[in-house]
Amino acid sequence: MTLPPDLPVIDHHCHLSPTGEGVRAAGRFARAGGTHLFLTTQSYAPGPILRLETYREQFETTERLAKSIRTETGVVVYLAVAPYPVDLVQAAAAIGAAPALDLHRSALDLAGRWVQEGRAVALGEVGRAHFPVEPDVSAAIDEAFQYALAVARDAGCPAVVHSENLDADGMRALARLASSVAFPLGRLVKHYQRTVVPPEARSGIVPSYLARRELCAANLREDGPWFWETDFLDDPKRPGAVLDLETVPRRAKAVAEQHPEDVERLRIPFVSSVEKVYGFAPSREGSGR
Ligand SMILES: [Zn+2]
Repeated sequence: MTLPPDLPVIDHHCHLSPTGEGVRAAGRFARAGGTHLFLTTQSYAPGPILRLETYREQFETTERLAKSIRTETGVVVYLAVAPYPVDLVQAAAAIGAAPALDLHRSALDLAGRWVQEGRAVALGEVGRAHFPVEPDVSAAIDEAFQYALAVARDAGCPAVVHSENLDADGMRALARLASSVAFPLGRLVKHYQRTVVPPEARSGIVPSYLARRELCAANLREDGPWFWETDFLDDPKRPGAVLDLETVPRRAKAVAEQHPEDVERLRIPFVSSVEKVYGFAPSREGSGR
């Protein structure tokens, strides 16, 4: 069996770089059967980010890349923009925690404006460092995270969360934090989730599962909303650090070939979850907003 022609095939979280494989990687994704990418911004240069202007240029670089992908490959690209939470660690070391937090807040405000202008569909990545940091920096990161959730709440968009892998307790704690700023849990996406958490234990949080073979086979049985992602990094210096961009289309095709009875379940990550979490249908035309 082949995939239904009307079925979008979506990688919910990846990064691409103008100095990496860039548009060519999206071309491979398209040839493998992929149709839509959620492209998350990233820092494209080494060193700490110390000016708001640098974030503006970074978001614009991501946007330019998205447009080239759309024109050259036909893949529909949705942007997620935000200052990366870990940026605060480097910036705090350079200028101190308080000024670094101020800059981070301004960059989050900028990201919120991009969503309101329809240039991005989510704030991402926001969240925490996945490694231990100094107490004052850790406090700044926590404050930045709450601020990010408030910005996303006001912009009416999902927040794509970077954090350690979460079990049911971790999801409960994250849900509590989000609820403290009245952020709607149905728009709280935990990206790079590496263990299946059943719907009743998710505290309303939406997992975006790393598309490893066993993880996909296990979570396909679960009710949505949930997504599949590669977190492709497009860093030639770190090949194989994350999954390749062709992975999600390959997983979808494998379902069609090996478990044709499950093909309709692929509408969970590729259609209904996008509608529920983002509030638009993943159409083949335009940006969907
Ligand atoms: Zn990422």
